[in-house]
Amino acid sequence: MKRFQYYIDGQFLDGEARFPSLDPATGKEWADLPEAREGDVDRAVNAAEQALYNGAWSKMTATQRGKLIYRLADLVAANAQKLAELETRDTGKIIRETSAQIAYVADYYRYYAGIADKIEGSYLPIDKPDMDVWLRREPIGVVAMVVPWNSQLFLSAVKIGPALAAGCTMVVKASEDGPAPLLEFARLIHEAGFPAGVVNIITGFGASCGAALSRHPKVAHVAFTGGPETARHIVRNSAENLASTSLELGGKSPFIVFADADLESAANAQVAGIFAATGQSCVAGSRLIVERSIKDEFLTLLKGKAEAIRIGAPLDMATEVGPLATRRQQEHIAALLDKSLQSGARLVTGGHRPGGEGYYFPPTILDCDGVNSPSLVNEFFGPVLSVVSFETESEALALANDTHYGLASGVFTQNLTRAHRLMKGIRAGIVWVNTYRAVSPIAPFGGFGLSGHGREGGMAAALDYTRTKTIWLRTSDDPIPDPFVMR
Ligand code: NAD
Repeated sequence: MKRFQYYIDGQFLDGEARFPSLDPATGKEWADLPEAREGDVDRAVNAAEQALYNGAWSKMTATQRGKLIYRLADLVAANAQKLAELETRDTGKIIRETSAQIAYVADYYRYYAGIADKIEGSYLPIDKPDMDVWLRREPIGVVAMVVPWNSQLFLSAVKIGPALAAGCTMVVKASEDGPAPLLEFARLIHEAGFPAGVVNIITGFGASCGAALSRHPKVAHVAFTGGPETARHIVRNSAENLASTSLELGGKSPFIVFADADLESAANAQVAGIFAATGQSCVAGSRLIVERSIKDEFLTLLKGKAEAIRIGAPLDMATEVGPLATRRQQEHIAALLDKSLQSGARLVTGGHRPGGEGYYFPPTILDCDGVNSPSLVNEFFGPVLSVVSFETESEALALANDTHYGLASGVFTQNLTRAHRLMKGIRAGIVWVNTYRAVSPIAPFGGFGLSGHGREGGMAAALDYTRTKTIWLRTSDDPIPDPFVMR
């Protein structure tokens, strides 16, 4: 068993308790993990508060902070292979994907390293004589970061990067499922030379560790990625400390294909959009909305591609779809699929959970035309695509917006004016036209409705980790008149 520690106040610790991590490819225990409870959460938050107001970090210039973040980015790049293998081992996400994603993680840190000394205050042209008034931008405070199991290095980078650039200190709670890569990443924080307490990384269970962290009185902001139900707990907890929140939640993203689209391209994008990461992606294009005249042709194309996917061991470079992260996830997908089939949805391909060890689930396509299928409204967070068809553009738009979520969307068409109408009409935080799943540190990312609020990526994300302070300075040497003498 590989043993991990977590990181509080610059020290690697064993934790108040321990729990095992299961290898998703075999279902067997492979690592021994520390579990933070209320006491460790309190130590971590106090360490972050000390570092924010009293430590070396509080005295650094923004340029010095940026240099530390650059060093971290270089260390991530230098340790990419090791981190990718750990993430694959602990979450089942295939090595092809974790290797590619780690390169991106280093890019995100580099982007925010550059932003550290570009966060500016402002001078206000105030409507009073003899007054100079400025806005200073200061770090928002101690930030709690709570992330889910999928892509923990990436989902924490989009929080840690901008928060460091803004000068915040933080406590990052890794998910109880697959936290090993984030605990290993703590060694790079240490090696980069961040002062003790600036970044603390713990792992533990949601109801104990996550709840204690998000309601801690010294936490100023909670940056959360996960499901809407947990987000409601986080928001309720924020009634205690009145912390601000940013919420990156799930999705039921529409993927619209018109008859004039390049169907081969659209099919490749749809396959990647729903089956990559075994469907455990918040932006999974899980609702295919296809023009009726090409529905059969497009489904035949998709079925062929889905059935050709190589399912296998996640550490094998040839594998295209690996296991799900947990048994719980496998059972959730099977149960929602059963309900959808009972409602009348028809299986185009996949659907049968294989026997044997590991949490595998095959790429699955469900034809839901004319059916009120629960698969059209509920998130599988797995490799299941639900298909409906349309006749007119307005019907396609109505179907796309028939969801409480609003994270991502895709439109495939060669018709430019139609693409423009749809990019305005679709209610989602991201519209990809003739592409899908593209991300960049420069582009904001986030959703509407049940997909949450707040944006990650881009300059605005760094500003979200700041608060303004208004400075009034009277420039006159004349004495201030006695306020109680009538004039
Ligand atoms: P989850 O909501 O169950 O857990 C996420 C995190 O919250 C974990 O660290 C968990 O320990 C913690 N948590 C659980 N209960 C808590 C509580 N009461 N108080 C505080 N913290 C608590 O999510 P999951 O099942 O691990 O992840 C899947 C979900 O995440 C899906 O809905 C997916 O769409 C979403 N997701 C969203 C994005 C995005 O950027 N929008 C990215 C990835 C995943």
